[in-house]
Amino acid sequence: MKISVPKESAARETRVGLVPESVAKLVKSGATVVVQNNAGLASGFTNEQYEKAGATIAGDFSSTVSDSGVTCKVQPVTVGEVGSLPSGSAVVSYWAPTGDEAALAALKAKGVKLLALERVPRITRAQSMDVLSSQATISGYKAVLMGAGALPKLLPMLSTAAGTLAPAKVFVIGAGVAGLQAIATARRLGGLVSGFDVRPAAQEQIQSLGATLMKADVAAAEGTGGYAKEQSQDQAVATQNAIAAHVRDVDLIITTAAIPGRKAPVLITDAAIKGMKQGSVIVDLACETGGNAEGTRPGETVVVHGVSLIGPLNLPGTAPFHASQMFSRNILTFLGHVLKDGVLTLDEADEITGPMLVK
Ligand code: NAD
Repeated sequence: MKISVPKESAARETRVGLVPESVAKLVKSGATVVVQNNAGLASGFTNEQYEKAGATIAGDFSSTVSDSGVTCKVQPVTVGEVGSLPSGSAVVSYWAPTGDEAALAALKAKGVKLLALERVPRITRAQSMDVLSSQATISGYKAVLMGAGALPKLLPMLSTAAGTLAPAKVFVIGAGVAGLQAIATARRLGGLVSGFDVRPAAQEQIQSLGATLMKADVAAAEGTGGYAKEQSQDQAVATQNAIAAHVRDVDLIITTAAIPGRKAPVLITDAAIKGMKQGSVIVDLACETGGNAEGTRPGETVVVHGVSLIGPLNLPGTAPFHASQMFSRNILTFLGHVLKDGVLTLDEADEITGPMLVK
């Protein structure tokens, strides 16, 4: 079985599908691995490291993927790239949100199977294949660093000869994977951290990490599979009001609230932002799906009522070494699930493979 690792061509994409450590394991198990020239360079992995792991280096996309059984990528393949993929092969990568219909049609026409990594089911058995979790961990961590860097304050309380500095107040909204990592990171940096989520389990997790829970007189909004569900209109307004009152005294907000398949809920209204202190910062991790803060723009920092609204894109790509390492381990575990004696076995009835196949 030949496994290929192309260089990512999408803007801002610094990660790579497989890192040398995973390549070495695949080669040891009998696979042949071909890596495109400098595919890992932006994340800190050289051609020499891949060669040492047993891979060969190919010059361009088409020579990398020729005769490939599985192509391992971060971002979706483009229509132009599909032309080079061998019929009967498979691609493992993200598909949503940027995969396009024309590329999907071309993949189907060529008989290339597409396995979307964001569709790995959130079940215990598949946890080690879950790129949403591994990459959200990085996003939560980096969001705090980015916000701390933009604040005109330090996070910890410091007692110095020049006087005592009060700790900054950090508020994390949405305590899923990214939010919990943000809470842990902000606490490590010495911030006074509070959090809020509509799921009771997440509320407990906020407190178990040592943060305080924002009090809000709203009902739990728990959907299926551990996800939140949309709040009713009056509950959403009650949540916005509770948040508006809480954030008057907050320096840094990290907001991550999402409902699968829907636009992100607006939780910090323009009026709430107006009530915040000058120089406060909001890092809106939901900016790509509409944003939790009114006025956030994806990929930009805008200042509204003296508050910086940061809408970061591809935060995992800002820590590409560790992001790729985790992404690669997720793919490696998935390959271990579908490669039987070196042959790719894609069983549509399988609990993990079935939902990942894009049709
Ligand atoms: P997500 O990105 O879908 O959402 C982030 C958070 O926003 C969630 O905690 C959600 O409850 C919260 N949220 C939504 N609407 C909100 C609102 N109006 N106000 C405040 N908060 C709001 O979440 P995620 O990080 O993908 O995690 C979702 C769930 O999946 C969690 O329960 C997590 O533990 C679970 N999970 C399970 C596995 C597994 O078992 N393999 C792996 C990863 C995550």
